[in-house]
Amino acid sequence: MLNTIKAFFNCLLGILKNEKTMKINVIAPNPTPQEVGQPAVGERVSLPPTAPVDTTPLKSQYDKAVEQLVNLNGSRPWTWIVIHHSSNKDGITHEWDAIRNYHTNWRLDGGIITFQEALKLQAQGKVVIAPWVDIGYNFGISHDGDTYNYQVGRSLIIPGAHAINFNQKAIGICVCGNFMKVSPNETQLEMLVALIKYLMKQFNIPVNNVVGHKETYTILKEPIGTECPGDKFDLDDLRKRLA
Ligand SMILES: [Zn+2]
Repeated sequence: MLNTIKAFFNCLLGILKNEKTMKINVIAPNPTPQEVGQPAVGERVSLPPTAPVDTTPLKSQYDKAVEQLVNLNGSRPWTWIVIHHSSNKDGITHEWDAIRNYHTNWRLDGGIITFQEALKLQAQGKVVIAPWVDIGYNFGISHDGDTYNYQVGRSLIIPGAHAINFNQKAIGICVCGNFMKVSPNETQLEMLVALIKYLMKQFNIPVNNVVGHKETYTILKEPIGTECPGDKFDLDDLRKRLA
């Protein structure tokens, strides 16, 4: 009996000595909602008098976003900026992912086709378009539900695919929308201005080299081949905002 008691105390002493190195797992019961600061079911919650809001002016938020958006590493020496809208000939407005999907697939007359279809149509003498390496534009402003988002497109390292005879020298920006029907709204314009101003500064592009797609034809003294970016897009007003 005495030995048993001694052994017990020795064991206890050993445990106490090794206390610091002992790992103790404590399995606690799940905390109640109140313990983690959440209301219990059915409990009424009064909101704080003022909800926390980001008070940074939107314009500065766009400036910050643009700085993070643009990757200048290894960029070509761009000298122009060409503005587009995302409306097709048929008036359908396409959003960023749809445009990227279209540009990176085999296509004919505005529709995506399979490689097999492309081969067949080509054999029939149709002019099909092969997939591009990436979306034709360098940047975009998409309209996703209630929000507008900056989008990164084709790298600034390689020529674009958005305006004939301008792809080698012009950064292409597509504002998603149909500006034959409505004017771009203030959010779209402010986001666009922040992006263009940043690019103008980085590449030393003068304001007169910021043009709409249709204006590229006038500059080249060619018959105007597009309505892009739409009659309701006031390009002179855009340039005024950039000056
Ligand atoms: Zn265009």
